[in-house]
Amino acid sequence: MRLCLGCGATFDGNDWRCPQCGAEPARIAGFPAFAPELARGAAGYDPAHFTELARLEASNFWFRARNRLIVWALERFFPDARSMLEVGCGTGFVLAGIAKALPRLRLTGSEAAAEGLAFAAERLPGATLVQMDALRIPFREEFDVVGAFDVIEHIEDDRAALAELAATIVPGGGLLVTVPQHPVLWSEYDVRAGHVRRYRAAELRARAMEAGFEIARMTSFVTLLLPLMFLSRFAQRAPKGQYDPAAELRLAPWLNRTLETVLDAERALIRAGVSLPAGGSLLLVGRKRR
Ligand SMILES: [Zn+2]
Repeated sequence: MRLCLGCGATFDGNDWRCPQCGAEPARIAGFPAFAPELARGAAGYDPAHFTELARLEASNFWFRARNRLIVWALERFFPDARSMLEVGCGTGFVLAGIAKALPRLRLTGSEAAAEGLAFAAERLPGATLVQMDALRIPFREEFDVVGAFDVIEHIEDDRAALAELAATIVPGGGLLVTVPQHPVLWSEYDVRAGHVRRYRAAELRARAMEAGFEIARMTSFVTLLLPLMFLSRFAQRAPKGQYDPAAELRLAPWLNRTLETVLDAERALIRAGVSLPAGGSLLLVGRKRR
């Protein structure tokens, strides 16, 4: 169902016009815009960042490995899903990977920054794309699975965000979330990325359960690279020189390949049922209670 953010009515169909009050979303660059005030420079995200991100993520080991982990989790835990919403889809790199691997899924992507949607539209000719705030989603019990990949750590009120995600999922449907882990790894990188926090595993689990989910699986990833991360973050705490947040994405090709191989090895463990206890990131697979 669609939800009118004006009057709260829910309705079906492909038309965004509310049959109850007649309200219609604004349009920005052709996309229905439910939070136009956030379309430029959404909190914690610099839209100019998307141009470089779109270029770098396609070859970067971390984005590629995270995509494979997400596709694996979708196939493993939600083989019957027919529809999926990704909140905070950025440039559409994740959805494009899902579209290729799981063409049966009807995909919807959302993003606060309209610039990200323009990139996503090029990558995803078949998807529905909307501009919105993750805290006010214009859908109710619509999707078999909802994903938020490195999104909720940007949101001050993550409880409200998880509750809103839950409201958009059909009863018994799935939630996939990734977040940065371990407050001890907090660094200038997190500040520049617009993070509000890095999570402890117990904290993310509790938040998801509070929002109405059972936990189907939780694991760390980027575990084998943890010592490297710790060293590089620790070094960055020294106050010296200019900090370049994109530097983490610009890697020598041999290093990028090596790191991707490490994350592939790690994923083999996760697939085999090992839940890694520590790592730079956390994956949570939840199921909405009926
Ligand atoms: Zn209405």
